[in-house]
Formats: sequence, C-alpha cells, structure tokens
Amino acid sequence: MSQAREELPFDVLFVGGGPANLAGAIRLMQLCKEKGLEIEVGLIEKGDSIGNHSLSGAILDPIALKELLPDYLDRGCPIEQSECRDNFYFLTPHWEFPIPFTPKYMHNEECSIISLSKFTRWLGEIAEEMGVNVFPGFAGTEVLYGDDDSKRIVGVATGDKGIDKNGEKKSVYEPGVDLTANVTVFGEGSRGSLLGEVDKTMGIFSKTMPQIFETAIKEVIEIPESNPFLASETTVVHTFGYPKGLDTKGGGFLYKMSDNRISVGLVLGLDYEDPLLEPYEIFMKYKRHPLIAKIIDGGKVLQQGAKTLSIGGYYTMPKLAVDGGLFVGDSASMLNSQRLKGIHTAMKSGMCAAETIIMAFEKNDFSRETLAAYEAGIEKSWINQEGYQARNFTQALSQKGVSKFIHVGAQYFTQGRGIKDPMVIKEDCATLKKLKGKTDSEALNIQKQEYDGELFVDKLTGVFLSGTQHEEDQPCHLIVHDQEICVNQCFKEYRNPCTRFCPAQVYEIVEEEPGGRHLLINPANCLHCKTCEIKDPYKNITWTCPEGGGGPKYAIV
Ligand SMILES: Cc1cc2nc3c(=O)[nH]c(=O)nc-3n(C[C@H](O)[C@H](O)[C@H](O)COP(=O)(O)OP(=O)(O)OC[C@H]3O[C@@H](n4cnc5c(N)ncnc54)[C@H](O)[C@@H]3O)c2cc1C
Repeated sequence: MSQAREELPFDVLFVGGGPANLAGAIRLMQLCKEKGLEIEVGLIEKGDSIGNHSLSGAILDPIALKELLPDYLDRGCPIEQSECRDNFYFLTPHWEFPIPFTPKYMHNEECSIISLSKFTRWLGEIAEEMGVNVFPGFAGTEVLYGDDDSKRIVGVATGDKGIDKNGEKKSVYEPGVDLTANVTVFGEGSRGSLLGEVDKTMGIFSKTMPQIFETAIKEVIEIPESNPFLASETTVVHTFGYPKGLDTKGGGFLYKMSDNRISVGLVLGLDYEDPLLEPYEIFMKYKRHPLIAKIIDGGKVLQQGAKTLSIGGYYTMPKLAVDGGLFVGDSASMLNSQRLKGIHTAMKSGMCAAETIIMAFEKNDFSRETLAAYEAGIEKSWINQEGYQARNFTQALSQKGVSKFIHVGAQYFTQGRGIKDPMVIKEDCATLKKLKGKTDSEALNIQKQEYDGELFVDKLTGVFLSGTQHEEDQPCHLIVHDQEICVNQCFKEYRNPCTRFCPAQVYEIVEEEPGGRHLLINPANCLHCKTCEIKDPYKNITWTCPEGGGGPKYAIV
C-alpha cells in the first residue's frame, strides 16, 4: 500500500451520511438524469456503515420524503408505525396530567414513527443504486482550500488510519485521501467539527446568535407481548415537567415501534445551570416515573445511545453558502424545535442544495455568488416558513418559571414574534453556576439510581449496548487543551461536570495520594454526541473525528 496521500476528484462531495446529505445526493442524481448531466458524486460517512451513527426519536413528517421519493412506500421505506396517535402529559413525581390542548405545530397526524438508523440505511442504498459513490468508514478531518487567496473550499481530507497513540505509523498504516470537488456539501449534523473549522476561516456564524443545543439519551426497549400498551391505541407519548423540573428545558418521549419494541428517550437543554446535574441519571428517573414504568414493565434494553440536537433555529443559522461550499441540515440549525423535528427540514435542505448545484454546473460557476441561490431556495421553501414561526421558541423555553409560558403563549398569537424579537440567548457553555459555598459532601451528594442490568443499565453497559468500538491504539480524539484547568479550577468551581454530562463515562477524575488528582479520558467509550465540547464551561475540550469507522453501531434506534 502506498504511504503517500492520494487525491480523489469528484464533481460534488457530500460530507456526512445523515438524512440531509442522503436526500441531497439522491435529488442530485435525479436532476442529473432529468437533464442528461454526468456528474461524479461522492459521499463520506464516519460511521462504518450508513445508519450506524444515526440516532433520533423518531417521528417523521414525510413532507420532504414525498417530494423526493413519492413511491417511498412501494420502495420499502422502513416505517415502524404508520399512525401517530399522540398523548401529551405534564409529570409530577408521582402523577401525570394529560394536556387537553396542544398547539397545531405539535400535532403529528400526518407523520409516521421510524428508526433513523434503519431509515438512513435505506436512503443510502437508494443513493448507491443511483450511482452515488458512498464511502462509509471515512471521517472528514480537514477542510481543503484552493491555492489562491480566495479561501475557496475545494474538498475535504479524510484522516489517516493506523496511527498509534503516540502519533507513530503502525504496520497497518493507511494514509488519508484528499477528496476534491467543485462543491462540497457539509451535512455533519449537530455541532459539525469541519463546520467549526470553516467558521474559524470564514466566520460563517459571525452574524448569528450562538448555536445552542439539547442533549438526548435514548433506548429501544423490548417489552413482553402481553404488555397492554401494545394493544392500546396510543403510539406517541410526550411529557414535560418531572424529573428535570420546569427551569430546564426539554422533555421525554416514548414511541411505539414494530416487534414489541418501544423507543424511549429524554432530551435536556444544555443551557442548564446546575453543574451537578447528570442527564443520564435524570433519564433513569424518567423511566421510573409511574407513567413510563407501567409501559416498559418487564422490558429489556436492546440498544442505547446519545446525541445532541442543534435547537437554536432561525436566528442561529450560519451563512449557508461560501465559495465551493454549502451547509445543510442540523449543522446549519435547520431543526424546528417547536415541532421537535429536524429530519424533514434536513432532507429538504439537502434537496435545495442539489437544485443549486445543478444550476452551478449549468453555469460552470461554483462561487458564493452562484451558490447563494441555495440561501434564496431555503428562504422561499417551507423550511423557512416553519423556522420563522419558531424563531424565538427555544429562547422562550430557556426562561425560568412561568415566564416561559407567557412568552410561548405570546408567540403563539403573533406568529412567532412574541414579546421580544429576537430573544437573546447565551452559549450553553456559559450557563453553569459555580458551586459557591457548598461543602464537599453537599456538592458530591448525588443520589445514583440502582441498575438491574436489564431494564436499567449503567453507563458502561449502555456503551456496550450502543455497539461502540474504537481502535484503542490511536491518538485521543478528545483534545483537552489544559488539564490543569480540569484538576484545579474546574474541580473547585464546578466539580468537573464533564464526569456527569458525558453519557458514556469518557471523563473521570482519579484521586491520587496525597491529595492530588488527574483527569482520565476513556476515548474508546465516546458516543460522538459532542456534549463535552458544547457544555464545558472553559471551552477546554475540542471534539475531533476519531479514526474513520469508529463509534457506535446503531441498528434499530
Ligand atoms: C434523541 C433525538 C430525537 C429526535 N427526534 C426527532 C423526531 O422525532 N423527528 C425529527 O424529525 N427529528 C428528530 N430529531 C432530530 C433529527 O434526528 C435531526 O434533525 C436529523 O437527523 C438531522 O439530519 P442531518 O443529516 O443534518 O444530521 P445527522 O442525522 O446527525 O447526520 C450527520 C451524519 O454525518 C456524519 N458525520 C459527521 N461529521 C462527519 C465527518 N467529519 N466526516 C464524515 N461523516 C461525518 C455523522 O456520523 C452522521 O451520520 C431527533 C434527534 C435526537 C438526537
């Protein structure tokens, strides 16, 4: 095997194999066929198969899918439940209160329940059949720019494989590849790492409010056939309130899937203030609430995973087109937090990108000037209609106590304008409150749940159930810039929240005699949720892509 980096040229390169880019690649191939154009299209995905890194609820609004593949049912689209019959509850520790009225945007009558990992796998097969060169197991690790001074994006480099912990080449060394293209479409999902690089070079987020996020933990649970929930009408349960309280945004969900399976999860706003809060423990408490416990009774967790969602919406969307580059889906804040949905908007954004790319090929011009038609396409599409209505929604939910309901109510009657427009938000890393005045025993007196290894599993069992595997002997992909901050300043001020907000026990503080301590990082456990990079109060952690192919192996979530 040659040790030199090779260049692999494409006309168009999609980075990331989520719904945004897969829909984009399929739409591009359809348009090429219609117009008799021959365009070489590549798509890379860091998971070792399409779908392995896809995790979602998921209720699918099929609006984009119907536009893209009107015969999607005949093509065997994997649908878990074709009808969504909703129930929405407010939870107190022991009771549930049905909410009789929910705003129209929360209705799901037209939607279906899917597993996103199955769905993206299916889209990936269609893309491949249509001639897209799909490369799973390849992580884009560097953005390539043109030689001139224009900062034109000309592709992406994939990471080397076979480098050991110390940065030395192993016998299995395989150099990465420079994938070049006239247009590169970035669809890396929430908190794209290459997008962060593009922002440093081109300031694509400089005129927006900061992107903000929720973190989510989700499981697929198999329940006994005799469980009465399986025979009930209900297919969708959404909740708010307990166990996280009203001051932290987010909520719980439970969806009926096929084959006696239930999808249950909890999303939590990363603007929470208490450094001692542990999202994983809150999820376990959620599962013990009588409403949920009754439904999952006698069940067994088949798969678990975690992921963040980019929920800032309209006011946090970056510039969407630069010379040689387009940004789609969650990376570009397309998710509609009001509807708790981003699959349909991600898909539509990819399709709009494809339409612009065809026009750019017809003009043979890939400059920002031509590619800006994509921004206009998004502006005119239903993504924008939905997104504009929801422009202050997440910000309203970040308010404390009842004031959030006043803002949400005002927005409901003013098509999203509300009392303040735009409502200002803080970056999630800036919201933790210091543990001033708390003694050690108060600070660390966190009540842990009990685990039975079947229905309630601890974090490490959860990692096992996510199928996560990484090559152990590789450079650590989680860059902690200054470990002194962790063991001194962060320990004192926040008691190392990374040890709690990480759902996979990647970060541990090890006490040493006498009185010393050090940070232990277990990168092999990483679920690629990126919560650590988002929530660390000192911005001391950078998440980078590990060797391609590593990470979770989600199959049914
Ligand atoms: C728990 C949870 C519940 C949700 N529920 C719903 C729901 O019910 N309905 C709904 O519509 N939406 C829901 N969403 C949101 C929805 O999943 C996202 O909006 C949607 O998946 C975004 O699609 P995307 O293609 O932009 O990104 P993603 O689906 O995140 O896909 C991005 C892909 O890019 C890959 N990638 C990233 N970086 C690189 C790189 N550098 N090189 C190569 N590959 C890379 C990733 O591995 C991933 O496969 C939910 C999300 C979560 C986490």
